[in-house]
Amino acid sequence: MPDTFIMKKIFNLIVAFFVIAPSTAQSLQRPQLVVGVVVDQMRWDYLYRYYDRYAENGGFKRLIKQGFNCDNTFIPYVPTITACGHASIYTGSVPSINGMTGNFWWDNRLNRTVYCTEDSSVKTVGSNTTAGLQSPRNLLTTTIGDELRLATNFKSKVTGVALKDRGSILPAGHNASSAYWFDIKTGGWITSDYYMKNLPEWVKNFSSQKLIDTYYKEGWKTLYPLNTYTQSAADENDYEAKPFGAAAKGFPYNFTGFAGNNYNAVLATPFGNILTVEFAKQAIINEQLGTDSITDLLAVSFSSPDYVGHSFGPNSVEEEDTYLRLDKDLGDFLNFLDTKVGKGQYVLFLSADHGVASVPAFSRDHNIPAGSIDFLSLADTMNALLKEKFGQNNLVAAIANYQVSLNLPVIASSSLKITDIKNWIINYLSKQPGVDRVIDLEDLYKAPLNIKVREMIANGYNPGRSGQIQIILQPQWLDGFGKGGTTHGAWNPYDAHIPLLWYGWGIKPGKTSREVYMTDIAPTLAFLLHIQMPSGSIGSVIPEIFK
Ligand code: ZN
Ligand code: ZN
Repeated sequence: MPDTFIMKKIFNLIVAFFVIAPSTAQSLQRPQLVVGVVVDQMRWDYLYRYYDRYAENGGFKRLIKQGFNCDNTFIPYVPTITACGHASIYTGSVPSINGMTGNFWWDNRLNRTVYCTEDSSVKTVGSNTTAGLQSPRNLLTTTIGDELRLATNFKSKVTGVALKDRGSILPAGHNASSAYWFDIKTGGWITSDYYMKNLPEWVKNFSSQKLIDTYYKEGWKTLYPLNTYTQSAADENDYEAKPFGAAAKGFPYNFTGFAGNNYNAVLATPFGNILTVEFAKQAIINEQLGTDSITDLLAVSFSSPDYVGHSFGPNSVEEEDTYLRLDKDLGDFLNFLDTKVGKGQYVLFLSADHGVASVPAFSRDHNIPAGSIDFLSLADTMNALLKEKFGQNNLVAAIANYQVSLNLPVIASSSLKITDIKNWIINYLSKQPGVDRVIDLEDLYKAPLNIKVREMIANGYNPGRSGQIQIILQPQWLDGFGKGGTTHGAWNPYDAHIPLLWYGWGIKPGKTSREVYMTDIAPTLAFLLHIQMPSGSIGSVIPEIFK
């Protein structure tokens, strides 16, 4: 019967509408919260050096076992330094494009040294010091947080948290809802009026608890008995800088004299990490991050491992204890996120801004060639010799980020030929102990350099913010730290091989040994969130991590 036929057709259409339509009209799925964790100076091998001592319910093992591990992640530029690393992770870009060529750089246009996040046009909010004269204005590209804000018509909240200003400001980006950092003069958390006019009550309340004074009363004892720290050199040794004063010789460290007056010392202790976790929790609660279907982003950076690493080196009991404690703090933070935001409702990544070299004297004592060069005094020596040779003062403006910056205005207004000065400097520096080679950056692609190293140098070169001459040191050699302690900044794997772990919403458990890069993190997040990649992104999506 035709009527029945038509009725059946209409029935089918109605069924089709209710069966198909709801699924095609299903809203776009995104996590409630993105949590970025950067561990300042965490070398990749720390995941494994201390693996057997990390807790089953701690942070690192949970991320490794239940998340996705990109085991072969590298930094694709030099210098491997904090500002560059934090900027690269969140912009998916490199210094040549995002402009973050160092923590400090000699600026060829301003003709002075510039700090990465300096901004004299803003005011400190939360204290009377100058520690808040900061903003992301020197960053030239957008961050993943900026793109998330743009994608949700600025409904997403984006917050940065770190003891270091640059560890908070650069990840949070230009359009952040807030960014907070630590004022070592007052021991409190601050921001700048780039973000807000007044410090929120919850931040004031947090600082007024004076948690640091409580930590100082406890002092720093090892988490486990000292004789179980078998991954490290003897506690007392000659390789360490003395961040707690010459009299403080080893565990247990007594900080009772610091309460109320020395808030700098907390930086080089594991207490800096606890303070950061506690502040991040309060930021989640009070800024209501991850509470609804509009995705928010929290960028947390743990600054203290960098201060501990510089002071004591990667083979110290202090370093081992810092990571065993950080593992517990991370586990605690994951538990908090599971409860507050919900297990599987947030996506988290953990990486590092750079690694670190062994303390040169420690290496030499184990028959590994190593050393340090004091670039500051070398610049003075060269300027004196250049004055004799060319009759001009201060021809070298600075040696920063393993590059020589020439005093371009002085050279331009003289009759001197820049190539003569460059050649003299290249010749002089090439003869210094520990120098592998010295390269005129204009001739970078003519120099017979290893391709990987050359690409890293090119990725780090920004004409307005880089020097004209590149110094490549021999492996294990570094800038400064001749008397104890160590640093980072070179192309070598100890500085450039970093951890990268993914966990939570949309992430498939597993691992890959395929080589990926720091610059892949932001485009991968952009893909996961279905938002635009940051404006200077050169990285690739890592498809293996997705469910
Ligand atoms: Zn760093
Ligand atoms: Zn550092």
